[in-house]
Amino acid sequence: MRFETISVHAGDRPDKRYGAISVPIYQTSTFVFEDVGKTRGFDYSRTANPTRKVLQDTIAQLEGGKAGFAFATGMAAEATVLHLLKAGDHIISGDDVYGGTYRLLQNVMTDFGIEVTFLRLNDRKKIEAAVKKNTKMIWFETPSNPLLNIVDLEMIADIAKKHKLLSVIDNTFATPFFLKPIEFGIDLVVHSTTKYLNGHCDVVGGAVVTTTDELSERMQFLLNALGTCAAPFDCWLVLRGIETLACRMRQHEANAKAVADYLNGHRAVKKVFYPGLKTHPGHIVAKRQMKGFGGMVSFEINGGMAAVTRFLKRIKVFSLAESLGGVASLAEHPGTMSHASMAPDHRKKVGINENLIRLSIGLENVDDLIEDLEQALKQR
Ligand SMILES: *Cc1c(COP(=O)(O)O)cnc(C)c1O
Repeated sequence: MRFETISVHAGDRPDKRYGAISVPIYQTSTFVFEDVGKTRGFDYSRTANPTRKVLQDTIAQLEGGKAGFAFATGMAAEATVLHLLKAGDHIISGDDVYGGTYRLLQNVMTDFGIEVTFLRLNDRKKIEAAVKKNTKMIWFETPSNPLLNIVDLEMIADIAKKHKLLSVIDNTFATPFFLKPIEFGIDLVVHSTTKYLNGHCDVVGGAVVTTTDELSERMQFLLNALGTCAAPFDCWLVLRGIETLACRMRQHEANAKAVADYLNGHRAVKKVFYPGLKTHPGHIVAKRQMKGFGGMVSFEINGGMAAVTRFLKRIKVFSLAESLGGVASLAEHPGTMSHASMAPDHRKKVGINENLIRLSIGLENVDDLIEDLEQALKQR
């Protein structure tokens, strides 16, 4: 089956009992045993739930992995994956990851004896030089949040194999519609399903896809032991979102391309970050490994905080809000919003400047989006 078909049909559906075409929401904590010591396949919803199972199977199939796991949030998914490690282990992480990921690694995991090195993952020699005896994991995003930097998946998979590291990608921005990391040899895929997979800004959720039986078994153990799993109704919302993922991603991308082209060269704009632009440093690698460049566009506005504030106050079709990947276009200021949890000197080091604005391009008519940007960018 192809992507669009998997999105609609994967997992155990339609429902066996009454033929409901929409996956039933099994809003139950516990399941009645058939006999002593004999279940009907489910016993307690933390461990497993039929609605969650359909979502997990669907995401796993879309990513081309072994098994899927659905979590309460993207951060719950990340926290669970990090429990694959133990005190004394070392992680190499991309330096421009989501602010919450940076906070979890830097301000939480270090208290449990996990060491972290943040690094721009664009140079094989530098990455290999950062590998230590206790390095166990390499964690990254591509395109990254919010700078849309591109990481070469083949290179990471190769380094990971050579040094026996677990490679983990946060595939939230690209989604499996544009990028299939497992085809390049990446070990684990993480998602904030809050974003494109759900796509309607009405749920928070996370997911993980594994590539081996050993990892699948351990993830199921951790999900159950930590209790980080997603609720049935939330799973149903994400399932409904995924049914239209392909259509939405095509349109998000078409709109984002038009917006990036419009901003590129605009008088009030200093720099545009979009991997689809030929001038983007990761364009060639992105073109090789991705089927499309996605729906996120960041840019630096001319001027400082005053220019940022003026722009964010003036937007009308775009809403000033964190998060991304929904049908409605959003604009935000990483410095004070999505990446406020990153230490200021770290933000500066990785290039998240004060005048950076991140746009999540929605599914409105693109002419309305561009007209809105035009009036908001007017310098007087
Ligand atoms: C939002 C986001 C997360 C965190 O997900 P939540 O669902 O908000 O917990 C992780 N990674 C990326 C790239 C994100 O954009």
